[in-house]
Amino acid sequence: MAKLQTFENLVDGKRVKAEDGGTFESFDPFTGRPWALIPRSTPRDVDVAVTAAHRAFTNSDWPALSASARGRLLVRFADLVAQNADRLAALETRDNGKLIAEMLGQLNYLPEWYRYFGGLADKIEGAVLPMDKPGMFAFTRHEPLGVIAAITAWNSPLLLMSWKLAPALAAGNTVVVKPSEFASASTLAFVALFEEAGFPPGVVNTLTGFGAEIGPALTAHPLVAKVAFTGGDGTGQRVYESAAAGLKRVSLELGGKSPNIIFADADLDNAVNGAISGIFAASGQTCMAGSRLLVDRSIHDEVIERITAIAGSARMGDPADMDTQVGPITTLPQHERVLEMIDAGRKDGAKIALGGGRPAARHLKDGWFVEPTIFTGVNNRMRIAREEIFGPVLSIIPFENEDDAVAIANDTVYGLASAVWTRDMGRAMRMSERLQAGTVWINAYRVVSYMAPFGGYKRSGIGRENGQAMIMDYLQTKTVWMDTTGTTANPFVLR
Ligand code: NAP
Repeated sequence: MAKLQTFENLVDGKRVKAEDGGTFESFDPFTGRPWALIPRSTPRDVDVAVTAAHRAFTNSDWPALSASARGRLLVRFADLVAQNADRLAALETRDNGKLIAEMLGQLNYLPEWYRYFGGLADKIEGAVLPMDKPGMFAFTRHEPLGVIAAITAWNSPLLLMSWKLAPALAAGNTVVVKPSEFASASTLAFVALFEEAGFPPGVVNTLTGFGAEIGPALTAHPLVAKVAFTGGDGTGQRVYESAAAGLKRVSLELGGKSPNIIFADADLDNAVNGAISGIFAASGQTCMAGSRLLVDRSIHDEVIERITAIAGSARMGDPADMDTQVGPITTLPQHERVLEMIDAGRKDGAKIALGGGRPAARHLKDGWFVEPTIFTGVNNRMRIAREEIFGPVLSIIPFENEDDAVAIANDTVYGLASAVWTRDMGRAMRMSERLQAGTVWINAYRVVSYMAPFGGYKRSGIGRENGQAMIMDYLQTKTVWMDTTGTTANPFVLR
């Protein structure tokens, strides 16, 4: 068997193994075979990493840096990411099976997060407050929180981490990153670039391992000021509870069951492409997957025909091949879960219009593949319409009119994303008001930017990532009061 590639954590500027030397294997989802060995950190490692991050926050060159110097470091880091984009994209594809075409796009765009927040670092201004108290002068300043625990999911480790790291570092915090056990390698390679860019030791640290073993120690650690989490809503709830015990700040980016709504007047070529990219790109393994396709009944059959024709001819294969359109599922447990949900759809009486299992092709037999699967005859009470599947499984649900579409769309515990396909801009605006989701795309799907806030309503999360305003989530406000009268105040009266 080929030798496994070994990775180490970055703690306090040093490459380290787990304290007890423990490791675990990371698997290539295309071959189903292990390819890397990752440190299996322990709760003691958590303490060492968080302590290092805290030391860097309180007692290193980092807090002494001006905001402009911090911003310059981030911009330098962005340039290094750009120079290493191909290598990092290939690593992520190997580890989580996402298409190289998608990862190259992501990695080439990723530097923008660091440039944007790097540029913002020295534009965070406090205010001189208007004052009703005679003889008092007051102003505010915004200060970093301290150690941020950034916990990420396996589907886009570097992107999700950057949504946290770029603003956290621009604001002057230090960070401990915990990637998913299913896709840690790219994070470990990525953080080396922070060292190369000149970040002081301890500003960025990593902890790999199993969430169940080290997650609670990290989220409950007394020196962690904020937990920035991306993952499933069940884990998110546990993280929230653990952080609550220490009254820590929390941001949660969780799952979804996003409605993608096609009205009869839509440009159907675009709408159908949007529906496909919403669910089959990334094999449905995106939080914003448009997993419920709501279609005006008058065009329902035509839409099904068009979508099944395109999705049915999508090329499945090696994600490292630029021509592949549908890659494998990242993890074996997730592969089983997707197949189990397809069975649930069948049992609940939905009809399979496309796919419905593992592909038969020989070149796909070792990988964790699921065919692009389309269910029709779905109603919104079925499990496939209610639970996040996180796989290439689309449920098509007909609707009668605008009110019906809104009712079905909002009838979910989630509220991450949504889309409306129509040429009627009045309707588009009405829908954008009525949909209970953190993102509404109009005649588009799956577009994100460092400039645009992203996050969930309801069980899809707490807080937002991206956009200028959210840097405040990594800062706290201090109000400074000064007496200018030079007189002695009465100690028994509130001024
Ligand atoms: P997950 O199982 O919830 O895991 C997320 C992260 O939490 C992983 O690093 C995991 O480590 C860690 N973890 C597990 N138990 C923990 C604990 N008790 N305390 C602290 N951390 C713990 O999610 P996933 O399967 O990796 O990712 C898929 C989910 O992420 C989907 O629901 C998807 O919708 C969501 N997601 C949301 C967004 C968004 O922006 N809203 C983006 C992408 C993905 P281990 O992997 O080692 O268990």
